[in-house]
Amino acid sequence: MPAPHGRGTARPLPDMSMRIHTRLDLRRLILLLSLAVALFSFFNSFHASYQTQRDLLIRHTLEANRVYAAKLRQSAEQLLGSMHQQLAYSAGLLVERMSQPERLADETERLIRQNRHFNSAFVVRHDGKVMAASPESLGLLGQMLDSAGAREALDKRRPLISDPYVSATNRLVVFISQPIFADDGSYQGYIGGSLYLQHENILHTLLGEHFYQDGTYLYVVDRNRRLIYHQDQGRVGEIATGNPVVERLIRGEEGTLALTNSRGIETLAGFAPVTASGWDIVAQRPLELALEELDGLMLNILRLSLPMLLLSLAGIWWLSHLISRPLWQLARSAQHWDTEEAPEQVRRLHAWYFEADQLKRAILASLALLHQRLGKLSQESLTDPLTGLGNRRCLQAQLERWQQQRQPFAAIALDIDHFKQVNDNHGHEFGDRVLQHLAQQMSDCSRASDLLCRSGGEEFVMLLPGASLEAARQVAERVRTQMGNTCCADCPSVTLSAGVAHWPDSAASVASVEEVLKRADAALYQAKHAGRNRVEMA
Ligand code: GH3
Ligand code: MG
Ligand code: MG
Repeated sequence: MPAPHGRGTARPLPDMSMRIHTRLDLRRLILLLSLAVALFSFFNSFHASYQTQRDLLIRHTLEANRVYAAKLRQSAEQLLGSMHQQLAYSAGLLVERMSQPERLADETERLIRQNRHFNSAFVVRHDGKVMAASPESLGLLGQMLDSAGAREALDKRRPLISDPYVSATNRLVVFISQPIFADDGSYQGYIGGSLYLQHENILHTLLGEHFYQDGTYLYVVDRNRRLIYHQDQGRVGEIATGNPVVERLIRGEEGTLALTNSRGIETLAGFAPVTASGWDIVAQRPLELALEELDGLMLNILRLSLPMLLLSLAGIWWLSHLISRPLWQLARSAQHWDTEEAPEQVRRLHAWYFEADQLKRAILASLALLHQRLGKLSQESLTDPLTGLGNRRCLQAQLERWQQQRQPFAAIALDIDHFKQVNDNHGHEFGDRVLQHLAQQMSDCSRASDLLCRSGGEEFVMLLPGASLEAARQVAERVRTQMGNTCCADCPSVTLSAGVAHWPDSAASVASVEEVLKRADAALYQAKHAGRNRVEMA
């Protein structure tokens, strides 16, 4: 018997396909996750390198300012030293000439003109009377000096650098002096020079020379926190209170400090005290200016790391594709698991990693089982359980197929004669055995390509593809004879009648295949009518 054809037709599983299209898939998930991780770590390292560069710049600026302040301290000390030397030299010259006003005037003039270390110069006698003063315009000659600097010089009788004070000519000055002692050790007075703090002076020349172009600025405070130099001249003379840098300098420290200055600007300061004078030098740079180059640096880092970032993003994209592909294909194949091609499709998948491979194996095993079950169910649905022949459904399907293929065939309708009596006389079970026996005879008398069906009760149909009406009649005749000859000894009377028809039948111009069964039935009816146990042709 040929295997019944045409299993249930492949139908997509609508739910599954809906889900596949509407939900986020694994590939996008991996892609999103990896992108998030990659971007997060990129920005994290970018931020970390920003912080590191920033700290480095701040440290460098602080250190540069400290070195700068220390260097200026050295220059200031050298300058003060040379000013004292100059005064000491003059003092040596003048000790013999204290009574010669012209010579004294020449010397003070030379002091202010020679190298512009001093804004003004004086020779003062031991009683405080001004013996010479340059420039002459000061009008101090012959006067008794009573300023703080003058008093200190007279009192202490040693080389001095005064604290800033307001002079007799109403200027904020620092006074540098050298005592004049005669050979016998008697005190003659002193020679001194002033720096006008609020005018151009040697400090401006010294510190201004070193003034950086990068926004660094300098100021000098004395031990009383008074500004004695500042690039903003208007601030000279101010007392710097509450400035942490100045407080540390007062304690004699050298170092660095990040602070917010009196104008509320964050600055980076380096500082160094000048021990000889009690002055303190501070070099400061606004933080914002120090960090100006950071933006450029970071842009550079970004520019250099961008190609690698793009490359790794492309790598992530490709890897996510590679990883998700087998699972995605497995998921896609799930839509067609009930089709014949499904196992082959799944088998072709390249499941290159453990999980996908395990899933693939499991699915293949399940598919084999599923298809086996489906095949069995389908077989059962088309088979008559008693005889093992095809049933009416099977017959119908084959008729449709042949009609579609335009396959010519002959149909034989068979019916056991007086079967009711067989049942009545010998019992239903015996009747069943007769039915099975007939099925066997039909099988023995047919070809493998023929379709044998039990169309109902004790009625059977044989479809013989490609057979002529006459050939079919002969087959029917053979079955009938066989049945008569071979039927069980205790029931010799079991016979059958048959009707034969052919499709297509040009004479009857029949198009429908159903018609051929009706005509075979009609021929069968004729056989019954004519006395049974015979074959009739339509
Ligand atoms: P005819 O020669 O006119 O065909 O007479 P018949 O008795 O064979 O026809 P009828 O249609 O009157 O009776 C058919 C009988 O077949 C009735 C029923 O009991 C019997 N039959 C139908 N199916 C089965 C079956 O599966 N097993 C058995 N044992 N009997 C069946
Ligand atoms: Mg019948
Ligand atoms: Mg019958």
